[in-house]
Amino acid sequence: MKVCEVCGAREARVFQRHSGKSLCAECFARDVVERVRSEVVRYGMFSPSERLLLALSGGKDSFVLMEVIKELHDVGKVGIVTIVEGIEGYNREEDLEWLKESSKAYGIDLHIVTLSEFLGYSLDEVVRLSSSRDLGVSPCTYCGVLRRRAINYVARLHGYDKVLTAHNLDDEVQTSLMNILRGDVARLIQNHPLSPTLSRYFVKRVKPLRKVYEWETSVYAYLRGFKFQGVECPYITSRPTLRAELRDYLYEVEVSKPGTLLRVLEAVDSYVERVLLDKASRLPELPQCEFCGSPTAYGRRLCVTCDLLSRLGILRAIPY
Ligand code: SF4
Ligand code: ZN
Ligand code: ZN
Repeated sequence: MKVCEVCGAREARVFQRHSGKSLCAECFARDVVERVRSEVVRYGMFSPSERLLLALSGGKDSFVLMEVIKELHDVGKVGIVTIVEGIEGYNREEDLEWLKESSKAYGIDLHIVTLSEFLGYSLDEVVRLSSSRDLGVSPCTYCGVLRRRAINYVARLHGYDKVLTAHNLDDEVQTSLMNILRGDVARLIQNHPLSPTLSRYFVKRVKPLRKVYEWETSVYAYLRGFKFQGVECPYITSRPTLRAELRDYLYEVEVSKPGTLLRVLEAVDSYVERVLLDKASRLPELPQCEFCGSPTAYGRRLCVTCDLLSRLGILRAIPY
């Protein structure tokens, strides 16, 4: 039996390529929690008195975020929001079950928002409308914009201080590289944990798992007996191909040079901190959408939601 290199007592079950260590299940879980803790502290992601809203989909990353936050924060100050997009065959009652069970077990408020109620249309209906009008907008664009809006609304409505999402290291590196390749400096800054919230109507979003590899969230969830959702969203193929390409490429690089993803994100963080953050802190408050009042980008009359809804012919003032 190979023994854990940290405690020297239990059987090693996980080989962490980036650290070169073999760990037992307990020491591996501890390592993940401590790395998240240090990232949370380093960037002041939340303080002990703050009320946190966990935006969870019900997958393995959601499970890990909830497990870790239970260790790092008072669960009496934690709530969960989950968005039911209304995607046939994808949003299933079983997937909500563990969110319902865990929130009940720990006395955590669970806010379930269906797009059908929030918007008056499910995502499937929005996608059908969009293709009947030949708008050429990807389902993931509607999904992302509407989900973000609903989450911010719940956070504001219930007075949460921060929104926590379960994005992992792989997601973060892909997003950063996409922003760099597109030359999108504003998004590169926005993605940094210290970026300023540019409107009093936005609740700050933070990503505590941003330095945890995707394979680590899978292993953590597996070792804790979490049952994986086997169903993939039918619209997955409409995700930007650049993300899929980067994912494959980064996977290969990580295999040959373990630790690459961590080093890339550290480098991006340090560049944003040294060169870009100062400029961002001098930006004025975002203007408000002329139709619904939500914050919108500088120089825009309508916010993205109203713009999309108006192109769909279903413009209405959705709360934010
Ligand atoms: Fe939404 Fe696209 Fe993800 Fe499906 S694949 S859940 S449409 S973002
Ligand atoms: Zn150990
Ligand atoms: Zn608007």
